[in-house]
Amino acid sequence: MMQRDNEATKDIVVIGAGVVGLSTAIRIQKKGGYRVTIIADTFPTDQKTIRYTSHWAGAHHVSGAFSDKRQRVSEMDKETFEIMWKDSEHGGPVQGCFLRHNHTEFRSDGADPTEWLDYMPEFRSVSNNELVPGATHGWTFTTFTLYPPVYLNWLLNRFLTDGGTIVRSQLQHISQAMQGGISGLPQKPDAIVACVGLGARFLGGIEDKEVYPVRGQTIALRAPWVKYGRTLSCADGSYFYMMPRVTGDVLVGGIRVANDWFPVPREQDRNYVLAGVLAICPELAPPEVHAERMPTIDDLRSLIVEEGCGLRPGRKGGIRLEAEWFEASPQTKIPVVYNYGHAGMGFQSSWGSASIALDLLEETLAGGKLDTNKGTN
Ligand SMILES: Cc1cc2nc3c(=O)[nH]c(=O)nc-3n(C[C@H](O)[C@H](O)[C@H](O)COP(=O)(O)OP(=O)(O)OC[C@H]3O[C@@H](n4cnc5c(N)ncnc54)[C@H](O)[C@@H]3O)c2cc1C
Repeated sequence: MMQRDNEATKDIVVIGAGVVGLSTAIRIQKKGGYRVTIIADTFPTDQKTIRYTSHWAGAHHVSGAFSDKRQRVSEMDKETFEIMWKDSEHGGPVQGCFLRHNHTEFRSDGADPTEWLDYMPEFRSVSNNELVPGATHGWTFTTFTLYPPVYLNWLLNRFLTDGGTIVRSQLQHISQAMQGGISGLPQKPDAIVACVGLGARFLGGIEDKEVYPVRGQTIALRAPWVKYGRTLSCADGSYFYMMPRVTGDVLVGGIRVANDWFPVPREQDRNYVLAGVLAICPELAPPEVHAERMPTIDDLRSLIVEEGCGLRPGRKGGIRLEAEWFEASPQTKIPVVYNYGHAGMGFQSSWGSASIALDLLEETLAGGKLDTNKGTN
């Protein structure tokens, strides 16, 4: 009996150990009937690197689904919010990770996010006297920020504790994961799930040129007196954000530049971000300074504890959630599910996109062939 169960268990290889790969691997593992192996070049336990976007995220849950009209994006964000909202409960399973807080989204770009955000707790639009400089409208609600290094390691720990296997290797071609030959990988996997983020642009067999980097540069300020978040999206395309972390730091940013591969912080970007966030939140300056005079960005410099750059995995057409039968060799044809291209929303859509990837996997293994990108625009 035992032997038949093992034979029925399918071997799945997930490529990628960012937030998307880890969440997808756990989702498949939890379904039962699968033995899951993650292969990746970089894991959450590694030092931060430009090659691994997930370490650099904020990460807050403020859905931007309005910028991608696909209903599916909104549903992915909502499903993820419901799961993470439970995880973020005081005394929840991942201590030292989540901070629930009030967030206000200010805009002057004409977009109305009500349709995408009205499920957020205590959602309401703000009155004119609550607007920050540069804003014409605002919406406020309760959300959470998670601390990526802790969250990602918690996911990895869950995966391993539940019997998952990890293998470190940089693949040159997706077929290398299909035919055995890499120590630790199953000789004959039943399916591959590709969650390779920006790597989809380069990995042989995928080489998706619709994938491009959207550079971000963030600054962590030691400002434990600020316990709320704000974003401002302007008509000219400029965008600033600040989000408090459970650590007592406030992460600030405002750089979102497509096709900029520059891997380290730029001074001009630092000054631009500090000026932008100070305008929407002068309270970021130490309270004694703020009480006496209008703070300047020099008052924020001494609060800087970390700076970094991350490349969001942008994709023309949005997240790729598709499955196909891939011909690794004339003798080897196996299902590949694609789940990459999450741009600036990989955390907030992680569980939702993992659910879709699992559905694609099961339908393809059952003999079907699906493309959920169709009919959703
Ligand atoms: C500044 C900034 C702020 C952000 N803020 C937020 C936020 O507030 N909320 C939010 O939801 N999102 C946010 N994001 C976006 C989020 O970080 C990304 O969408 C998410 O991290 C993408 O995850 P991923 O798993 O697809 O990619 P990655 O984290 O880059 O992981 C890719 C994985 O694939 C592996 N891989 C790739 N190619 C290969 C190969 N050839 N062989 C082996 N392994 C390979 C890598 O080693 C890695 O393990 C932010 C991003 C940035 C840069």
